[in-house]
Amino acid sequence: MSKFELMPLPYAHDALEPFIDKATMEFHHDKHHATYVANFNKAIEGTDAEGKTIEDIFATVSKYPAGVKNNGGGVWNHNMFWSIMAPNAGGTPTGEIGKAIIENFGSVEEFKKKFSEAGLTRFGSGWAWLISNGGKLEIISTANQDNPLMDISEKKGTPLLVLDVWEHSYYLKYQNRRAEYIENWWNVVNWTEVERRYLSSK
Ligand code: MN
Repeated sequence: MSKFELMPLPYAHDALEPFIDKATMEFHHDKHHATYVANFNKAIEGTDAEGKTIEDIFATVSKYPAGVKNNGGGVWNHNMFWSIMAPNAGGTPTGEIGKAIIENFGSVEEFKKKFSEAGLTRFGSGWAWLISNGGKLEIISTANQDNPLMDISEKKGTPLLVLDVWEHSYYLKYQNRRAEYIENWWNVVNWTEVERRYLSSK
């Protein structure tokens, strides 16, 4: 049976400095993310999830033991998180995604404010998401490693942007200052990738 593998970081560990530091990226990708991959492979072993795509597993994730949801989410959410960040990125979204954000939220500033709030007010560990349902955009947050592709998710949709607000994603550099981490994170958002996801969601 094919095993899920750890996605390599699409840039160097220090590429997102000074906003996200090298040590955080080393622990976050090489340790935390790698552990989700290893535990996900263990969790699906011997179940009929073996051989399915991860998205297919999420579609009926409630029928599996909790370890499948928690570790599978840990694998997929981090794959997406690495891909929507990049060095020399950030700034104001333009093009189709820029237009869609203004249509749905009034302005880019208002969108950023609401998305940041979703990350800031997520109690404990979890994620903030921008999702699309046929071009209709919405901001949500999920607990733990849940995501909007899972059957257990209150809100479903195609994820366009995601922010990890687990303490392991910021504690080394920002300690308890989640708000400062979020504010700085906007500087590494890869809008080209967000737009690609938006266009293929329509
Ligand atoms: Mn994480």
